[in-house]
Amino acid sequence: MNLKVAIQSKGRLSEKSLALFRECGIRFENGKGNLKMKATNFPLEVLLLRDDDIPEYVESSVADLGIVGQNVVWEKTDNVQEIKLLGFGKCRLSLAVGKDFDYQSVKDVDGLKIATSYPNILQKFLTKKKVNAKIHEISGSVEIAPGIGLANAVCDIVSTGSTLTLNGLKEVETILKSQAVLIATKNLPTEKQAILDKLTFRLDAVQKAKDNKYILLNAPNDKIDIISEILPGMKSPTIVPLTEEGWSSVHSVVNENEFWDIIEKLRENGAQGILVMPIEKMIL
Ligand code: ATP
Ligand code: MG
Repeated sequence: MNLKVAIQSKGRLSEKSLALFRECGIRFENGKGNLKMKATNFPLEVLLLRDDDIPEYVESSVADLGIVGQNVVWEKTDNVQEIKLLGFGKCRLSLAVGKDFDYQSVKDVDGLKIATSYPNILQKFLTKKKVNAKIHEISGSVEIAPGIGLANAVCDIVSTGSTLTLNGLKEVETILKSQAVLIATKNLPTEKQAILDKLTFRLDAVQKAKDNKYILLNAPNDKIDIISEILPGMKSPTIVPLTEEGWSSVHSVVNENEFWDIIEKLRENGAQGILVMPIEKMIL
C-alpha cells in the first residue's frame, strides 16, 4: 500500500517539497514530465498538481497527504488535518491600496471593490471587522487590478512587498501569516497512518537537524563547569582532554535561535577555537 502525497507540480513550493522527501532518504524513479512519481525505497507516491487543487484532493481522499501553503488550505477547506508546519514558503496575505490612498483603518475600504484570489478568507476578515466591501475574485495578477480600474484595493500574497511597490500599491493590513504545511485527509486508514508516522518521524529528524548546530570548542579545565552550563547539549556536553596540559575539547549541540547569545557567553568564559557545523539528521 502506498501513501499518496499531492505536491505542487510547478511553482514556489515544488522544489522544496521534493527536497524534503530527498532529505528523508526517499528516492523516486525518474518520471520527469509525469503527473505521478513512485518512490523506490518507501511506500509513497507523489501526485504533481496545481496548488489550488491540493486541499480538495486531500479532503476527498484522492490524495492521503498534501504539501501546500496554509493560505491555500484555509481558502479551500476546513476539513483536512494540518500535520506539520514545514518552515518554507513563508508569506502573508495582506490588504493593499494605492500608495496615495489616505488609509487610516479597515473602515476606509467600506463600500469599495477589492480584487483577490482569496474570497473566502477575505470575506471572513471583512465580516469580523464589520466592513462591507465588494469582493472581485480573480485568479492571478491581482496586483494590477487597481491600476486598470478593476478594483480600489487588493488582498494578495506578499513576501517582500516589492511586487506591490512596483504596482504603486502599499500594504495596509496583514490578514494572515502562512507557510507550507503537510496536510492529511481525515480518517486515514490504520495502515496508511502507520506509513505517515514513519514519514513524520523522518521529517522531525530532518527539521531538528536544521534547527540545531554541532559545536566544538577548546576550554581551560577550570572553565569546563561554567561552559557545560552554557551548553546543555542533548544530554550533557562531551568533554575530551587535549594533549596540551590543562585544556579540553568540548562538543555539544546548540539551537539556531539561541546560537549567537551562546557564542558570546562562551567567549566571555574562556572558550577558544570554536567550530560550528551543520547536522544532517538528529534523532532524540
Ligand atoms: P499553481 O500554478 O500551482 O497554481 P501558483 O502560481 O498559484 O501556482 P506560486 O506562486 O507557485 O503559486 O506560490 C505557491 C505558494 O507559495 C503560495 O500559495 C504561498 O503559500 C507561497 N508563497 C511564498 N512566498 C510567496 C510570494 N512572494 N508570492 C506568492 N506566493 C508565495
Ligand atoms: Mg495556484
